[in-house]
Amino acid sequence: MLRVHHLDCATLCTLAPRLVVGPDHPGMVCHALLVETDAGLVLVDAGLGTHDVRAPIERLGRGFNWVVRPRLDEAQTAVRQVERLGYTAADVRHIVLTHLDLDHAGGMSDFPNAKVHVTLQEHEAAMLASTFKEQRRYRGAQWAHWPDFELYRTRGTQWFGFDAVDQLRGLPPEILLVPLFGHTRGHAGVAVHTTDGWQLHAGDAYFHRATVEGGRVPLALRISERIFDMDVTARMANQVRLGALARSGDARVFCAHDPVEFARLSPRHGAPCASPSPSPS
Ligand SMILES: [Zn+2]
Repeated sequence: MLRVHHLDCATLCTLAPRLVVGPDHPGMVCHALLVETDAGLVLVDAGLGTHDVRAPIERLGRGFNWVVRPRLDEAQTAVRQVERLGYTAADVRHIVLTHLDLDHAGGMSDFPNAKVHVTLQEHEAAMLASTFKEQRRYRGAQWAHWPDFELYRTRGTQWFGFDAVDQLRGLPPEILLVPLFGHTRGHAGVAVHTTDGWQLHAGDAYFHRATVEGGRVPLALRISERIFDMDVTARMANQVRLGALARSGDARVFCAHDPVEFARLSPRHGAPCASPSPSPS
């Protein structure tokens, strides 16, 4: 069983935040995990990185900055949080990504020597970027350092009824890639057997906790899910299965951007949207 730190690697203030996360909320989070293993530190999702914060237009594009409104704070990037925990960037030997969207992949360039584990389908989708939507969401500058990718196809291994890939190369069997296609062509969750039981980082398989807990998902988030989907049917089927898993109690399920799910797992939120972004260094 592995020890996990929950990191919030960017605050997304979004247009019309009241519609998206409700009143009195600090903004959406970019939920990443830092896992301590015998193979070194493993980062699960990378959020925005220092290069994104310093050059947001070039790295993220005008549209993302205008609509999603990330609070550009270098102190919140994964590498700076890793350093505050007493480690160095070189201690992060592996990065496991739910997908290669710009708000999940940006931080990997701060760990240029880490192996990056992702599904083969996601890697192919990002490298080809064959549709208009994919040309907007995938940003080649974020992997211009030629990361050492490890790519996986779905295999027959089962994890609580989900297909999982065979063991990730060089990583302990307590970390699994669990394909959850739909949001992107090769999107996956990442399961980690922690000291508190199994946890599933479901990435962007859903945007709001009510999807797996029951209750009302804000309309703006339901529309956003639809806008970003590459396969609506697959995404909706996975949401049903994730809800069943969450209710079963076999694993703690959380997504990348829900601030309430993050707060239940860690008190260390980034600064709220109301506070000004620090000036770039
Ligand atoms: Zn995302």
